Amino acid sequence: MNAPLIEIKSLRAAYDGKTVLHDVDLTVYDRDFLGIIGPNGGGKTTLIKCILGLLKPAGGTIAYHSCRPGGADGKLAMGYLPQYTAIDRKFPITVEEVVLSGLAGRKSPVARFTAAEREKARQVMARMGLEGLDRRPIGALSGGQLQRALLGRAVVSDPEVVILDEPSTYIDRRFEARLYELLSDLNRECAIILVSHDIGTVLQQVKSIACVNETLDYHPDTGITSEWLERNFQCPIELLGHGMLPHRVLGLHKHD
Ligand code: ADP
Repeated sequence: MNAPLIEIKSLRAAYDGKTVLHDVDLTVYDRDFLGIIGPNGGGKTTLIKCILGLLKPAGGTIAYHSCRPGGADGKLAMGYLPQYTAIDRKFPITVEEVVLSGLAGRKSPVARFTAAEREKARQVMARMGLEGLDRRPIGALSGGQLQRALLGRAVVSDPEVVILDEPSTYIDRRFEARLYELLSDLNRECAIILVSHDIGTVLQQVKSIACVNETLDYHPDTGITSEWLERNFQCPIELLGHGMLPHRVLGLHKHD
């Protein structure tokens, strides 16, 4: 078992005093690939916000442990790919600036990027298949190109954990396959937390699964039952496997 990067104990999250998540225990391990699934409004984004430090827990603890040489306990470099709808495409910013902004947290707002940082951004853009698009404004990108620029921004600082919130929304199927290839490649260097409503794809990609619906059920390396899905998504869901891709069945569990 790899070392724990994030340890969540008895987490409770609330908005205006109304609890939306409670009794959440979760450990994310180094090089983990954790899928977070659950019905709309179940609390997936709230959990992500707590992990990123954007929402203060109403109870419980979240501990961070760096596994890198020289890394300090309590500090963890995290990259975040927000939901597509959270992005203002009219904002006048180029692909290169989007990727470089993933390094901006390290410096003052007026500091210029060094040659080494620009080179790093260039390498990341090449890895994302965005060569030649560095000066293009984000308003002139396709959905898939914008997602790759945002993924570049999330990974340019070499984070130990990359968190993606619904990355396959609004992208075409062709790019979706490429996105998941990129993620499995990245997973050799860092842990990945992937929030998705696309259960079929998640189950093919991940090493462990958390089902979130006010509480959290964790499945290390496992299978999901159609009973759980139907009960928690309030509709019958069919899991289809296409081609040669393996699929999984999680053991039965209860949110109570
Ligand atoms: P999911 O990501 O699984 O769709 P969310 O974490 O967005 O779920 O929402 C969980 C619950 O918290 C929902 O009932 C939602 O209405 C509520 N909620 C989310 N954000 C806020 C907010 N900023 N203020 C008040 N309630 C919120």
